[in-house]
Amino acid sequence: MSIEFSDNSDERIVSSTLIADDDGEASLRPRTLEDYTGQEKAKEHLAISIEAAKLRSEAMDHILLYGPPGLGKTTLAGVIANEMGANIRITSGPAIEKAGDLAALLTNLNQFDILFIDEIHRLNRSVEEILYPAMEDYALDIIIGKGPSARSIRLDLPKFTLIGATTRAGQLTAPLRDRFGVVLRLELYQPEELMRIVSRSAGILGIRIDPEGAMEIARRSRGTPRIANRLLKRVRDYAQVRANGIITKDVADAALDMLEVDEIGLDSTDRRMLESIIYHFGGGPVGLETLAATIGEEAVTLEDVYEPYLLQLGFINRTPRGRCATKPAYDHLGIPFSGNAPVKGQNPEQQKLEL
Ligand code: ADP
Repeated sequence: MSIEFSDNSDERIVSSTLIADDDGEASLRPRTLEDYTGQEKAKEHLAISIEAAKLRSEAMDHILLYGPPGLGKTTLAGVIANEMGANIRITSGPAIEKAGDLAALLTNLNQFDILFIDEIHRLNRSVEEILYPAMEDYALDIIIGKGPSARSIRLDLPKFTLIGATTRAGQLTAPLRDRFGVVLRLELYQPEELMRIVSRSAGILGIRIDPEGAMEIARRSRGTPRIANRLLKRVRDYAQVRANGIITKDVADAALDMLEVDEIGLDSTDRRMLESIIYHFGGGPVGLETLAATIGEEAVTLEDVYEPYLLQLGFINRTPRGRCATKPAYDHLGIPFSGNAPVKGQNPEQQKLEL
């Protein structure tokens, strides 16, 4: 199994992409649909597809899972394999460099195996073309020889299920997207769901935590299980060193304040992004690239990692002309709102700009 650390991983504690701190994540992954908290719509859909495939003794339809990082796409692929009683092979778009690499993977599959390709939008074109007949006809077309004597032969593949995961469904080519029979969008989790995940993980890791402590961590986890598990581990450290080892609301509060994760899960980068929209661009609209350059981040990182949660909170709007900060964002930052016009004199940076 190859797990890649994100290339733009900035090691922030509330990053939803994998960071070095997430060692041992595997032990926290649920293995059954019943243990997999939340995502009720996706789960219901999958439960039916799994049952039907089992009844007919067939491979499941190919499945595309999409949504921000850390929401449980890889975990869900493992759950599906487990529920189907099938083997799973895990790889990722960037790891498959040549068409031959994918051909080797496909020919090594057994009947009903699951092939999980993370970041499937990053497959290169020549590799992707191998997938079309593989997904549609369970066949592999290979060219033998070169020039005029070249000929194509078709190999049969075992009936397998491809599960693709992506943070950006929009970047998938239409021929690839159309070959998935089931397309499921994973949503950010509600605090109550994250609280159940935190309590479950605490049980597995032998961490003592009370319900209010679990809720406090859940509220600051940006709707993302990966972040919830990470914050749990950091708060445990704090509880062991500064308290009596038990995570209560007060202990969680103090630990997370120390980690500079505010009461709704925003860190300094989120605040910088919002303040930049407000102070430098009069509340918006501002184009994503411009905003990214202003705060020194990659545009894709802003879009995939920061924005989903800020959009869910209703702190920003996406308009055709760019991003705008909303009144709740001003309120949260304690900046007076005046209908998305710049508020003069509220910030030294603003005054500098006006000189
Ligand atoms: P993604 O593939 O979407 O980036 P992962 O599947 O790697 O996310 O999930 C990250 C971590 O979050 C996993 O280690 C798992 O423990 C936890 N997790 C994700 N979804 C759930 C869930 N629904 N219930 C419990 N834990 C979850």
